[in-house]
Amino acid sequence: MAESASPAALSRAMPREVDVAIIGGGLVGASLALGLAGTGVQVLLVENIAPGSAAQPSFDERTTALGNASRRIFQGLGVWDEISREAAAIRAIHVSDAGRFGFARLQAAQHGIDAFGYVVPNRVIGAALWGRLEGAKGVDVRVPASVEDLDITTERAYFTLVTAAGAREVTSARLLVAADGAHSAVRAAAGIEASIEDYDQVAIAAAVKGDRGNDGTAYERFTPSGPVAVLPLRGGGYGTIWSCTPQRAAQLLQLPDDAYLAELQRCFGWRAGRFRRMGRRASYPLKLTRAATTVARRTVLIGNAAQALHPIAGQGFNLGLRDAALLAEVIAAATGDVGSPELLRKFSDWRAADRGGVVRFTDGLVRLFGSRIPGAGLVRNLGLLAFDLSPPAKRALARVSLGFGGPTPRLARGLPLQ
Ligand SMILES: Cc1cc2nc3c(=O)[nH]c(=O)nc-3n(C[C@H](O)[C@H](O)[C@H](O)COP(=O)(O)OP(=O)(O)OC[C@H]3O[C@@H](n4cnc5c(N)ncnc54)[C@H](O)[C@@H]3O)c2cc1C
Repeated sequence: MAESASPAALSRAMPREVDVAIIGGGLVGASLALGLAGTGVQVLLVENIAPGSAAQPSFDERTTALGNASRRIFQGLGVWDEISREAAAIRAIHVSDAGRFGFARLQAAQHGIDAFGYVVPNRVIGAALWGRLEGAKGVDVRVPASVEDLDITTERAYFTLVTAAGAREVTSARLLVAADGAHSAVRAAAGIEASIEDYDQVAIAAAVKGDRGNDGTAYERFTPSGPVAVLPLRGGGYGTIWSCTPQRAAQLLQLPDDAYLAELQRCFGWRAGRFRRMGRRASYPLKLTRAATTVARRTVLIGNAAQALHPIAGQGFNLGLRDAALLAEVIAAATGDVGSPELLRKFSDWRAADRGGVVRFTDGLVRLFGSRIPGAGLVRNLGLLAFDLSPPAKRALARVSLGFGGPTPRLARGLPLQ
């Protein structure tokens, strides 16, 4: 009599098949999943920490500055109406260097635009994306869940999906998307190396309330220990991000709220009025993490898994969202295999200029404004003055949110995905 196969052996022999498996449902992975909903592609989204949980690392206490291209992408994904209810428009940008004469001021209206971008609490973005993912066509969402035993062959990627309750399901995908953040386990499992440069800085993010409402100005102030960003919030407060040395951050994180606010005020000044109350502080060590390549066999990296940046110019998520929008476009347009080497090469080639440009721009800003080389301060200030006086330079900054090159994703241009 023939022996019958065990359930485990059967599931290995007949794995569940999907077209695209996205590992990581943070800001970028959830956006990609939503972009692919209803395109006919079978998507599995795996996230190991439920949105709304205090431990969720993507939808946390931070606020994110979204450029206009990101607004258009969110419009295309059908989430902007909900997000915009909690968004503050950036109508002006003020950049200054502590203790020096140079500063630059940009007004959106002078560039013929309504706003340079919008500041939104990350939790609001998370709630909008995940709310929309509920019942999204063709997207199977698993949370909290993780993947194990990753085995990537030339034909498919195989893995075991493990739920919090311990259920295990052998699964295979034509394309594996690493959207699992800067410490991407998928990137490592795919054998992709990443370079890490430590900026020796820690960012402290906190929402603060002042003695007067904001007028839609976003401030960036460069100080000897690092930059301070003060971003307008809906309702009149500010989202602050103070980047400083790890030692200074450790001291600042110990302080009671009023003492912290006094230190922040001393460092930033009085442009935005007196800071009075604040929310919870959260801290982030700052590094530039760059994957050696964004594609490998049956695998693609997007968002922080591909490149994690210093928040100095508020570009990390905007860049990652363009990764997601272009990947959704390329997959939706594919007539055959969505994980083919040709498709992956095309995606990687198309994203290279934008990715390289944003990484160089952001890293260059950190180094220029963090430099203690004699004369660097003068160069910075002349640069800021020149910037304030030079219409082309201002126009260049106003266009930063469109991306730094390569094809602009259709969604970012306000067009439908297909
Ligand atoms: C202080 C600060 C301020 C910032 N401000 C801005 C800004 O104003 N504008 C801007 O554009 N960018 C900003 N950024 C950058 C932005 O936050 C990141 O670019 C963005 O979070 C990247 O999103 P992501 O989804 O790629 O990665 P992450 O946010 O790291 O999300 C990764 C997700 O994957 C999940 N995950 C991890 N491992 C696994 C696994 N094995 N299995 C399943 N799921 C997994 C995690 O739980 C998480 O949900 C800022 C960053 C910092 C630190």
